[in-house]
Amino acid sequence: MAKPKVFVFAPADPTGVAHKMLEDAGCELILGRANWDTPQGNDEAEMMKLAAGCDAMMGTSIRSTPITQKIMQVSKNLRIVAKFTIGVDDVDVDAATEMGILVTHGPTESNWGGVAEGTITNMLTLLKKTRERDRYLKTTTGWRDMKLQGTFVGHREEDGYPGIVIGIIGLGRIGSRVAKLMRPWGMRMIGYDPYVPESKFQQFGVERIKELSDLLKQADVVTLHVVLTKETRHMINAQTLAMMKPSAIFVNTSRGFCVDEKAIADALQNNKIAGAALDVFETEPIAADSPFRKMDDRVLISPHMVSSNHGSGLKTGLLWGTQSVISALKGEVSPYVYNTEVIDQWKSRFGGKSIL
Ligand code: NAD
Repeated sequence: MAKPKVFVFAPADPTGVAHKMLEDAGCELILGRANWDTPQGNDEAEMMKLAAGCDAMMGTSIRSTPITQKIMQVSKNLRIVAKFTIGVDDVDVDAATEMGILVTHGPTESNWGGVAEGTITNMLTLLKKTRERDRYLKTTTGWRDMKLQGTFVGHREEDGYPGIVIGIIGLGRIGSRVAKLMRPWGMRMIGYDPYVPESKFQQFGVERIKELSDLLKQADVVTLHVVLTKETRHMINAQTLAMMKPSAIFVNTSRGFCVDEKAIADALQNNKIAGAALDVFETEPIAADSPFRKMDDRVLISPHMVSSNHGSGLKTGLLWGTQSVISALKGEVSPYVYNTEVIDQWKSRFGGKSIL
């Protein structure tokens, strides 16, 4: 029997352990090109050649070349596309589901927990004018300036100051971790997520808001933690930004395409909102002439690495992705399936049929 072929479209296995696991299981590996720094991998035509006849595909996120229907179609026996990361927005999941292919992902706490910490860091950096105070001392001979005053964020018992209102859109792993970390500050937290039960809002001390517009009107900080779907694409746009208070700030650590970038640049340039912290963009890396690179401190930008901390990495996600591939090649369904609706169809195609 020919060896099962695994196309690793964006390898991220510095120790080689995952690749060895697959080779020890009897697989032939085809490695794509990846570059986390830029990040660029193979283009679609190259991917189609590399993926031909493969039984499984796995890898991390290479945004320049999403895993399209065309790429998945080059192999009739493709069982699984396994991502090492949380996000599967760079895989055409609808097409995979239609074709009876499993898509799995790796929501590792070192990654999503890092996003929650980075979100709060960016929010506080804007609110407390951390960069401005530092730069003022380094670039002038001055000392104090009232323009450098920050925002008191939490609730004060002494004079009853309630604190600011934090609006969380999407109360999943990251949104709820943000709430958990901010809860001791005692301010009001409001949330919009039609897909999670009331009990989750209660568990994290977040007041449920039924309409997105109500959250946008009330919040002093709007922080976005939705997955990218057809519904959430450009959910923050000129219309929704116009609902925010001019004094409010916006934080996006979810996905670039959840926000209409032109609208956010316009809102900042015309003082429709007070600030924005953006870790993710519609095109990554951002262009050399991106307006965000030239803007003043109202915008805080980072290169999609808010989750990247020493010792974080994708170790667990890589292991889960590799195990998911081995399970699928054995005709078994891994616990990390994202498109769970495909499972019955998949079982009728591959269930119990091991090629290892
Ligand atoms: P999750 O699936 O746990 O949570 C997403 C939440 O969004 C869910 O609770 C879901 O119900 C909610 N949601 C879906 N559609 C919605 C809508 N229309 N309105 C309101 N809520 C909606 O995902 P997560 O692990 O918390 O990740 C959140 C986001 O962060 C994802 O977009 C993910 O890709 C991104 N992410 C970014 C980085 C980074 O480096 N910046 C790293 C990891 C994850």
